Amino acid sequence: MRKLQITDRAASRIKAGQRLLQSYDFDQPAAAMGQAEGKLVQLHDSHHQFVAKALMGQQNKGLGWVFTLDPDIQFDHDFIDNIIEDAIQARAGLFEDQTTTAFRLYNGEGDGLGGMTIDYYQDYLLITWYTRAFYSQRDWVLQVLTHYLPQTLGVYETKRFELEEGEKAMALLYGQEAPQPLLVKENNQVMAVYLGQDWMTGVFLDQREVRAFIRSQAAGSKVLNLFSYTGAFSVAAALGGATATVSVDVATRSLERTAEQFAVNGLSAPSDQHQIRVMDVFDYIQYAKRHELTYDWVICDPPSFARTKDYLFRADKDYQALASDLLSLTGPGGFCVLSTNHAGIDKDSFKDQIQAAADALPGHYYFMQSFKLGTDFPTSKDPMSQYLKVLVYYRAQ
Ligand code: SAH
Repeated sequence: MRKLQITDRAASRIKAGQRLLQSYDFDQPAAAMGQAEGKLVQLHDSHHQFVAKALMGQQNKGLGWVFTLDPDIQFDHDFIDNIIEDAIQARAGLFEDQTTTAFRLYNGEGDGLGGMTIDYYQDYLLITWYTRAFYSQRDWVLQVLTHYLPQTLGVYETKRFELEEGEKAMALLYGQEAPQPLLVKENNQVMAVYLGQDWMTGVFLDQREVRAFIRSQAAGSKVLNLFSYTGAFSVAAALGGATATVSVDVATRSLERTAEQFAVNGLSAPSDQHQIRVMDVFDYIQYAKRHELTYDWVICDPPSFARTKDYLFRADKDYQALASDLLSLTGPGGFCVLSTNHAGIDKDSFKDQIQAAADALPGHYYFMQSFKLGTDFPTSKDPMSQYLKVLVYYRAQ
């Protein structure tokens, strides 16, 4: 196994629980970056002492993943069997909960080794591979999964590493096709998901607690949901008794998909009560400002990076300015929910940016609470692993 030298700082971070490798962790970053995707390596410190074993694979969270600090542990069948069995056991409560039938079953480095995630959608599974190393073990992963979850009807896969010519990003790996849409539940909110069509299935499972929070607080309110995708936050608010919702997304498909999410919950949209706007969020903000519209809830969950016809949004550079507009659209007595899933923005700097936006406005804003990834999305100690940051601000006047 190839040996790579890491810095002493990286060695102590790994010993303290970090599992993601960055180029600056290596003594010779170029050598680390030159490792073939999926390569297993040994990491040594500056005294040539063994520190850990890792799997190399470049992706949005770094250059690779540490998988053990024990020189005797191998990336083999036993290892994979153990991490999957542990992940399933850790979610026993969710399996028993009849009101929630979709959740994250295995969450990369937080469940033992990064490079793979598995989502559970009521008897169907979706495996996402981030590295060929894990992918090369797919037959075994499948055997283990169907052994522990014999009720599984079908397993889909999505590859999110660089594909070779002719290789397909998505496939049904095992069993039968899921109905399109497949109806799953989250706290009894019905969700229509489409497996095997796009890497986005129709729902982002990592926002479950935020949806529950909005649903529990939104009675009687008027809600603006920006970057709404299929409208999951709007439906949660409507089920919680919101009297009006506006869902804004630039993607044409969001109209049909959002209407469907309302319909499967027995609600009607688009309607006077529940509007769906296919338009650019930045245009909608101008429109709302011009008409001096305010909302009891402004919910904003943008992608980390988005380029539309007229606008470029980069969460790391542009969120503060966006937050300033959104806090202004929040009426007195209202709440502003600001979310980012950008792994590169750490939670303190996100909070500082939003706080700075709030401080510069004439209204009185108070930080209420924050959300991070829920229990089915365990993380390693790395800030990059804890990618979801959601802040709730209250406007007093
Ligand atoms: N908040 C959603 C997930 C958002 S995914 C949820 O709760 O499920 C990001 C969405 O932002 C995509 O649907 C994309 O079409 C939309 N989007 C990106 N840039 C946009 C823009 N400038 N205006 C409106 N929508 C945008």
